[in-house]
Amino acid sequence: MTIDLGPWLGGVPAAAAERIAGARRALIASHENPDADTLGAALGIAAIVERGGGQVELLCADPVPPLYGFLAGMDRFRADPEPTFEPDLLVVCDCGALDRLGELRVRHADLFERLPRVIVDHHASNTEGGPADWVDPRAAATCEMVALLAARVGLPLDSGNGAVAAALMAGIVMDTATFAHPNATPRTLAVSAALVEAGAPLAEISRRLYRSKPDNQLRLFGRVLDRLRTAAGGRIVYSDLRASDHADTATDPSHSEGIIDLLAQSETAAVAILFKEVEPGTTRLSVRTRDGGVDATKLTGAFGGGGHARAAGATIAAPLAEAERRVLTEAERLLGT
Ligand code: 5GP
Ligand code: MN
Repeated sequence: MTIDLGPWLGGVPAAAAERIAGARRALIASHENPDADTLGAALGIAAIVERGGGQVELLCADPVPPLYGFLAGMDRFRADPEPTFEPDLLVVCDCGALDRLGELRVRHADLFERLPRVIVDHHASNTEGGPADWVDPRAAATCEMVALLAARVGLPLDSGNGAVAAALMAGIVMDTATFAHPNATPRTLAVSAALVEAGAPLAEISRRLYRSKPDNQLRLFGRVLDRLRTAAGGRIVYSDLRASDHADTATDPSHSEGIIDLLAQSETAAVAILFKEVEPGTTRLSVRTRDGGVDATKLTGAFGGGGHARAAGATIAAPLAEAERRVLTEAERLLGT
């Protein structure tokens, strides 16, 4: 291996590294509606624990979307811990707030309260601060952090015939849109270089995550893009995705991944918003903002959500039309219009 991550390893906190590398039976949890970053990070943590002779259970409230099925290990995620598994550590991956664990945390509240814990996360809006938690908002992806953690505790990045490197690479590709977002730093690229050297198929991962879709999903995108509307003289672009769109195109909510990034391509928009009807009376919000413009976490934070300055989300207990009114009003206020 020629890529040296040594210069970056001092940033990995000893407490998090020791708890994870020393775990005997770890529960490793990803956020609801999982994406490649939360799933890849969990698989990376699993490899670290297993390398130390420990056992793991990988948990996620929702099933892994088929899109990620090409990555080894995705079949290991389950919705609840095995009752006979007696964990000694909980690792929470890529969750800006613990309620991102969804129903998993509701169903196992006592377990999640009681266990020693490590949060590994990169959301600026994260306010958790346990003794071993590691929150680094300068990381482009939680997978960038887990790769450094692996290097720090001596897990070879080419473990599992490149499967670990591929999973971690997928999270970085996902959260940077293949190094296109301003969150990609020299450290992100150094880590990625090490992952590619360890066997991660970067081009294939990027194609699968960003440039390959079932035709039904493209039809779904078409419907939503066709309803694009503007506010604040074009500085806000928005659209909605209705439950009926899924029925009409035979798609599921995981197929909405990526629509917001197309809306955000609008030349005029400082703020792009996608309103998703989860069920009657519940609307999910995805927000993207221009560099130097409105902080996306300010907009979603007003509705109980969070995320990053350029990409954030929230869930609002209101029907589509009412959610649109309330969020547009707040977005206009933040834009100073
Ligand atoms: P997306 O729009 O892709 O669903 O989410 C964009 C970013 O915002 C992601 O990094 C995601 O983790 C974060 N995010 C999305 N929804 C929520 C939410 O309800 N609460 C918080 N705290 N963060 C969210
Ligand atoms: Mn992430």
